[in-house]
Amino acid sequence: MAGIYIHIPFCKKACNYCNFHFSVNKQALPKMAEAIVVETVLQKHYLNEPIETIYFGGGTPSLLSADQLNSILAVIHQNFEVEKQVEITLEANPDDINASNLQVWKLAGINRLSIGIQSSIGIQSFFEEDLQWMGRAHNADQAIQCIELAQAAGFDNLSIDLIYGGPTLSDGNWKQNIERAIQLKIPHLSCYALTVEPKTALAKKIKEQAVPNVDPEKQAEHFAILTELTQLAGYEHYEISNFALPTKRSRHNANYWQGKHYLGLGPAAHSFNGNSRQWNIANNSLYITAIQQQQIPFEIEHLTQQQKINEYIMTALRTMEGINLTQLKTIGGEAAVDRILKEANRFIQEATMSLELNHLIITPKGKFYADGIAAELFQL
Ligand code: SF4
Repeated sequence: MAGIYIHIPFCKKACNYCNFHFSVNKQALPKMAEAIVVETVLQKHYLNEPIETIYFGGGTPSLLSADQLNSILAVIHQNFEVEKQVEITLEANPDDINASNLQVWKLAGINRLSIGIQSSIGIQSFFEEDLQWMGRAHNADQAIQCIELAQAAGFDNLSIDLIYGGPTLSDGNWKQNIERAIQLKIPHLSCYALTVEPKTALAKKIKEQAVPNVDPEKQAEHFAILTELTQLAGYEHYEISNFALPTKRSRHNANYWQGKHYLGLGPAAHSFNGNSRQWNIANNSLYITAIQQQQIPFEIEHLTQQQKINEYIMTALRTMEGINLTQLKTIGGEAAVDRILKEANRFIQEATMSLELNHLIITPKGKFYADGIAAELFQL
């Protein structure tokens, strides 16, 4: 089983903290949609397995017209074997969510809306001061209305992004953000600590001391509030940043974390087939021009065994199931298992990890530090 990711690299407005590939000049959107249709055909042999998930991300895929969205989905169905129960997610910007668009998306077969996930265009906060500070295009009331509209239109598989640890977010407001999401019966939450990426407007403002820098202690405190409230409300903490009510995990993202294969379409999109990773050029006009000439503009990296082992450690350790030592043995042999058990011992001693039924799992105490622990376990 595999997945397809489609990157739509346009946004109405640039958010302060964002370092994704996008343009605020939307003129090229029609040509981009056509190019993605052509690339889909050019890539039809990349995955030789049924498609279980399709994910429209960005940027802002909710800017696609009905025709553009339908033509991309049609070409995928014509060129790939798509599972009957396919999960089709669309990242939607709150201010694109209205009755007419919801109808278009339903008819197109979209069965999951991510009002932002991993790549971004989410709710982020229900408080006006946070949204203004982030440079977001919607306001707090719109955020709530769009969720209610989507639910009324029959989208019960919804996800939102929330960002914590930002300079304007108090502990109390963070708690209220989570409680609001729970009250709104949103079955999937992706929650990220604000990170300051180089070359973003946020990094510049911090450098100029126009806003305070992020505080790791405050972020750890927000993470603790998050895990406690979501657990009480019945969410599974199935990946470090992701929380789902039963049966509402993101199948698409869960497949990434399990090392399943995926094809990325569009500029800056990444693909993975088990042995190599490749990524399309992160430039809209160069991408369109190359595709018009039937060329896919990409770079490729062939993975060494060591890279495969470390990628597995990094992604698996962030999940509820942890590192499956049998799977690690398949990737890296007995030596990889012996080494990780030796290295993991000190984390087991300090109770940030545990060994349960052949799985190395991060404990609640270690969750906020999972990436750092993974880096210590990497095989050199
Ligand atoms: S966070 Fe999302 S909506 Fe904002 S600029 Fe980045 S890609 Fe666009």
